[in-house]
Amino acid sequence: MSTLAEKPETEKQVEHPVAPFLRMDRIPHIWCPGCGIGTVVKCYASALEKSGLDLDKVSIVSGIGCTGRVAGYMNLDAFHATHGRAIPFATGLKLGRPELDVTVFSGDGDLAGIGGNHLIHAARRNMDILVVLVNNFIYGMTGGQAGPTTPLGSRASTMPYGNFEPPFNLADLVATCGANYVARWTCLHIRRLTKAFTTALQRKGFRFVEVIAPCPTLYLRLNKLGTGLDRLRYYYDEAEIHHDENPSDMKIEDEIPCGTFVDVERPTFLERMQEHYKKVLGDKFVPMAPEGGFLHE
Ligand code: SF4
Repeated sequence: MSTLAEKPETEKQVEHPVAPFLRMDRIPHIWCPGCGIGTVVKCYASALEKSGLDLDKVSIVSGIGCTGRVAGYMNLDAFHATHGRAIPFATGLKLGRPELDVTVFSGDGDLAGIGGNHLIHAARRNMDILVVLVNNFIYGMTGGQAGPTTPLGSRASTMPYGNFEPPFNLADLVATCGANYVARWTCLHIRRLTKAFTTALQRKGFRFVEVIAPCPTLYLRLNKLGTGLDRLRYYYDEAEIHHDENPSDMKIEDEIPCGTFVDVERPTFLERMQEHYKKVLGDKFVPMAPEGGFLHE
């Protein structure tokens, strides 16, 4: 058997542990040097491997933006939805094909800004999807505009004198709406983030993992948050772990509170729907087939 060093370049790429989870023909990716999104993808790929899920039954949906490119790079059944519409697309996919494990992977501007309404209603319904939201505090791809997560006082291209709009505490927002699982980590917490993804992939209902990640090209540069590795350390040094704390106390202000804030079992959308139709239809009720199908004839 030849060693890795003796193999041609294309075969070396296949040897990388994450390669089987990526569409290697699309690499190199579009992300800037130092961007945190790639690390989040690596943690998600590792979690897929650990979760033991059948990858033929895992689908991924992204919206628009820098993180919205993730679906295009994953070697899964993938869908690139329009701006803000990844969650409704994923909802339809899960209802039509309930046997699939559906992940939404997109950014803060896409999911909490343009698609904010879908985020709260999917959490309220406890829809059976995992939402990975990469929060870099700004609209990246479109030029650094302030978004719904931009911290107070931070500069953005549309807030040259600093942001005066209070940002969402997304962990609190989705927890209040009814999510089954809510966690927040930075992209520098590699092992903890991978573990959170692994757990979330194995849970049911609405699961939300927020990942705080640097956007060096826009957010860090506009806010003069250091250069080189210093700017990455900012995220790690500001993080404090607060497992099981009330999400309403977990605002991102002077520090970045991280941890698992919610991990409960509540009936999911699909469970409630089946239970309801069983009551209403009585003898005519036909359980939803694992591969989909109608509830009654
Ligand atoms: Fe990453 Fe920011 Fe570059 Fe987008 S603009 S790829 S978020 S560093």
